[in-house]
Amino acid sequence: MRRTAALIAGGGPAGAATALLLAHGGAMPVLIERQTEPHDVVCGGFLAAGAIAMLARIGINVFALGAHPIGCTRIIAGRRRAEAELPFAAAGLSRNRLDACLLQEAIDKGAAVERGVAIRRVDPAARCLDLADGGRIGG
Ligand SMILES: Cc1cc2nc3c(=O)[nH]c(=O)nc-3n(C[C@H](O)[C@H](O)[C@H](O)COP(=O)(O)OP(=O)(O)OC[C@H]3O[C@@H](n4cnc5c(N)ncnc54)[C@H](O)[C@@H]3O)c2cc1C
Repeated sequence: MRRTAALIAGGGPAGAATALLLAHGGAMPVLIERQTEPHDVVCGGFLAAGAIAMLARIGINVFALGAHPIGCTRIIAGRRRAEAELPFAAAGLSRNRLDACLLQEAIDKGAAVERGVAIRRVDPAARCLDLADGGRIGG
């Protein structure tokens, strides 16, 4: 069984941000992601102020990635519409773009990202993952 200092299952925002932070701290994590390339996910791509600030803290400027500022909300039902200013600054950015950039940043900081590798089972007691290709990797 392969062993690594830090093992991350999944390359969504949570996994990619964790990989980025660990790599930044010198932990050289390995991240396992089943998709072979950046992909669209079912998500509105809405970034609230807290998410924008959190991403900024880990070095990701969402506006530099092409995020569009969002300042108001609009509800439309037939011919009726209602609008209101948002009480905070927000932004819209596709998850495809955000996830790809987070993962690339993690790689640039030293994380190893293994794409196209599906996890079949998580074994928390042994701190390892069983992979669909029959492999086993432990953290
Ligand atoms: C309809 C909808 C709209 C949403 N809109 C918004 C929004 O506008 N703004 C917002 O902030 N949040 C939104 N969310 C919530 C947001 O999508 C989640 O909070 C976010 O995706 C969670 O990130 P994550 O990294 O934990 O998981 P995920 O984004 O689910 O990432 C998990 C990753 O793990 C990989 N993976 C899964 N299984 C395996 C496996 N067996 N082996 C290997 N890899 C695997 C996947 O391919 C994926 O890349 C929305 C959610 C839904 C359902």
